[in-house]
Amino acid sequence: MSTKADASTKVVYESQPPSCQPQASGDRDSSTNLERPHPFIWVTWLSKLMAGERQCQWAPWFRSHYEWDKVPSGCDLARWTADHAELLRTRRAILEAQGFTVYAEDQNSFTLTGTTGIEVSGKPDIVAIRGQEVYVEDCKTGTPRHSDHLQVLVYMLSLPHVQGHCKGRQLEGRIVYKSMAVDVPSSRLDNDLRELFRKTVRLIGGPEPAKKVPSWGECRYCDISKANCPERIVVRPGTTSGHGLF
Ligand code: SF4
Repeated sequence: MSTKADASTKVVYESQPPSCQPQASGDRDSSTNLERPHPFIWVTWLSKLMAGERQCQWAPWFRSHYEWDKVPSGCDLARWTADHAELLRTRRAILEAQGFTVYAEDQNSFTLTGTTGIEVSGKPDIVAIRGQEVYVEDCKTGTPRHSDHLQVLVYMLSLPHVQGHCKGRQLEGRIVYKSMAVDVPSSRLDNDLRELFRKTVRLIGGPEPAKKVPSWGECRYCDISKANCPERIVVRPGTTSGHGLF
């Protein structure tokens, strides 16, 4: 799990356990929201939009512009953190046995600032280097998703620009699940991907509020309360019967 403490004492998480449903819709207090000095975006907020797994653009837009009182997570975060740490430890041992030098989590933390002042930040689980080979890997304990690929691709795009062990190097990517590892080749870093990244950063980090798309499917997993988002859908839609179609 990746965390970032910023100017206030609030802590935000880069990633959450998959399908992490908050405990309640939560009428949290919106008066405690703090506007960030610069729009700030975690890579995981980008990757879900880039992959088309989230339709509500307003949620990441709000997160990027404000620190807010989150709806408490209903997930077993301690269990998820332990599982993730175990997967990372196992992967690290395998790579070191193969002769790689391994950098983990905080050692790979980066923040890119664009010309618009928008900050994009990430913390890849693993960077592994052996001679000319450089891999960035992310460990996933949940169900494989398309956004996993986009997340790793954004790391591959970003890290060569960051001062440190990846500066100026070409990275290959990999997603490590409990039962398999999936390669993310550098050949996927084409112009379309770069343009999608640029447009998504500007959409989420730009001054205009992005499109709000309330739906039961997304709202029930959203950590933004009804106080901050009055359109939040808190009741599951009913089923329709008596239609005669089947
Ligand atoms: S509660 Fe629903 S509509 Fe509101 S920001 Fe979250 S996902 Fe979007």
